[in-house]
Amino acid sequence: MRYSSLTERIGGEGARAWEIHYRATTRVRGGESVILLSIGDPDFDTPPRVVDGCVENLRAGNTHYTAISGEPGLRAAIARHHAKVTGTPCTPDRVVVFHGAQNALYSAAICLLDRGDDIIVPEPMYVTYEAVVGASGARMVSVPCPREANFHLDLDALAAAVTPQTRAILLNTPNNPTGTVLTSEELVTVAELCRRHDLWLISDEVYATLTFERAHISPCALPGMAERTVTVNSLSKSHAMTGWRVGWTVSPPGLTPHLENLALCMHYGCPGFIQHAAAVALDDEPPEVAAMKAELRARRDLVCDRLAGVAGLECLKPDAGMFIMLDVRQTGIAAFEFASGLLESHAVSLLPADAFGHSARGHLRIGLCSSQNVLAEACDRIVRHSETVMLR
Ligand code: PMP
Repeated sequence: MRYSSLTERIGGEGARAWEIHYRATTRVRGGESVILLSIGDPDFDTPPRVVDGCVENLRAGNTHYTAISGEPGLRAAIARHHAKVTGTPCTPDRVVVFHGAQNALYSAAICLLDRGDDIIVPEPMYVTYEAVVGASGARMVSVPCPREANFHLDLDALAAAVTPQTRAILLNTPNNPTGTVLTSEELVTVAELCRRHDLWLISDEVYATLTFERAHISPCALPGMAERTVTVNSLSKSHAMTGWRVGWTVSPPGLTPHLENLALCMHYGCPGFIQHAAAVALDDEPPEVAAMKAELRARRDLVCDRLAGVAGLECLKPDAGMFIMLDVRQTGIAAFEFASGLLESHAVSLLPADAFGHSARGHLRIGLCSSQNVLAEACDRIVRHSETVMLR
């Protein structure tokens, strides 16, 4: 039997990134104790206020079809949240609710890109981008964010990558996996490029509220950008709500009907009781949200302190997010080999970051989704493993 050509475009390399993680989870299922730092799923519970809101609403019978682009109450709550986070005005007619930021990214790509179009994506980039762009039929043109520049944009490379085929730029600040927050100078240059070449900007901001050093700037807040930016966000990271699958786009109003048409043929609306809970989360911010952020910061500091000065390792302190990049190049072995050996001999699972792009080669991504005690133990094991590797 024959499959569509799309199936080839969505089955790229990204899958290999998870090999170590899958090996680790298989061992966990087999009863072994493994410290899993290879995934970005917050270990915090969803704030009780949100769970209660959901359960009450479900019991009250909100189990029917919902408005395709999102329930009015949630769209209004998202518009208020967007205005607060970005410092720019927002109206509900610019909001469409999706099943997580992943679904929103896919929808934005499908509604903006065609075969023959190019989209520029700085790397290291989140591993699903390749398939998202592939699904749209467009070509992905990656530009490096060099490690030597702490994974900030190479602005000359970015400008040089723009051609008549370029239709959009996809940015992710704060970044997964690097935790880099782009500066206002970088964003001003990106905005200039977008305006000059009439480009769309898809802005993935799922870590926007988890900044520790530098404040997040939303590109849509720059002059002339609101009318050409699709801001993608979700509750997954900020509210520890990955499993609820609530995300959204905020776009110029002209794009909303197209996104709504796609939502109609793709999922026909998100569950009402989930949307109700999402509105509770956004309208009345639970105290746990700030506490989770503070805890992530403490975990980041703990890991960076413990791994500082260890021969062969360089731990890069991220500006934001829930990951740390660990440079293992000085150990003389590849990131995959380091991660594989660490899993086999010390039962710690880290993600080789190569899959996020060429600039991340020789780095491992450490997830901060475990308690400080567990992270401290993981660091001790990483140090022991690196000592063994260095002795070889
Ligand atoms: N973008 C980035 C950069 C991410 O790291 C993730 C999740 N790991 C997503 C999008 C998807 O998030 P969601 O759970 O909201 O679909």
